[in-house]
Amino acid sequence: MKKGKKIYEGKAKIVFATENKNLVIQHFKDDATAFNNQKRAKIEGKGVLNNRISEYILTNLSQIGIKNHLVKRINMREQLIKFVEIIPVEFIVRNIATGSLTKRLGIEDGTVLDEPLIEYCLKDDKLGDPLISKEHMFAFKWSNKKEIEKIDKYLHRINDFMVGMFRGVGIKLVDFKVEFGRYKNNGKTEVILADEISPDTCRLWDMNTEKKLDKDRFRNDLGNLIGAYQDVARRLGILHEQSNIRPIKFTKPKAVKFKKNK
Ligand code: UDP
Repeated sequence: MKKGKKIYEGKAKIVFATENKNLVIQHFKDDATAFNNQKRAKIEGKGVLNNRISEYILTNLSQIGIKNHLVKRINMREQLIKFVEIIPVEFIVRNIATGSLTKRLGIEDGTVLDEPLIEYCLKDDKLGDPLISKEHMFAFKWSNKKEIEKIDKYLHRINDFMVGMFRGVGIKLVDFKVEFGRYKNNGKTEVILADEISPDTCRLWDMNTEKKLDKDRFRNDLGNLIGAYQDVARRLGILHEQSNIRPIKFTKPKAVKFKKNK
């Protein structure tokens, strides 16, 4: 699939056109941002890890019937995806209270929720992604009842699947954010899961130590973000035991002696 012109550049990804109007190429950058873009850095290798982890999760979700935008991973940093019209809402699912929820409502950090809690935020950086209700979505036509009914069902199934998948490798899925889009094909429109699912968009805590294995390492200056993302990838079986963890040794090239021309 030939890469065409850039059609969008976001905080962590770039989208390129292809010769097929229904498909685009999604490129994962190494850029990290937090606190509504106020904190920024380039973290070498993050894009590669997110590409692999997101591919793994979306492939598994598609096998349990959650339709999503992934067609295939093309290389270390890129995926071929279905071109969708993104619904301008961030869908957040929480199993343990932390982050903005605890600050907003004064809930104690780490409170385990009896049931998964779904929150909706308007996807608008300028407004700081404010919390909204379903009624706001319907009143301002950001989505409609039919779409949200389907999405809510999807959110519970995605959460059930991911909680189990991460529990199996000793990780607690604390919360995550997903996005959905409208895919138009052959005159039909369907709502599918879009965007990435990776340690950039989930909170993942080690089951025993509660060590943070996600973007909070960047948000809260905890250090070694790449080590944590590699740990997630390794536990999911995406990275092999020893790969990418040994520093590459550079040996000095031997001096070459040139013979004098006779
Ligand atoms: N999240 C995200 N992108 C955003 C906001 C949140 O991926 O723009 C994810 C975040 O990584 C966490 C979950 O959504 O896994 C809930 O985030 P929260 O609302 O607590 O946001 P924060 O504390 O980061 O403001």
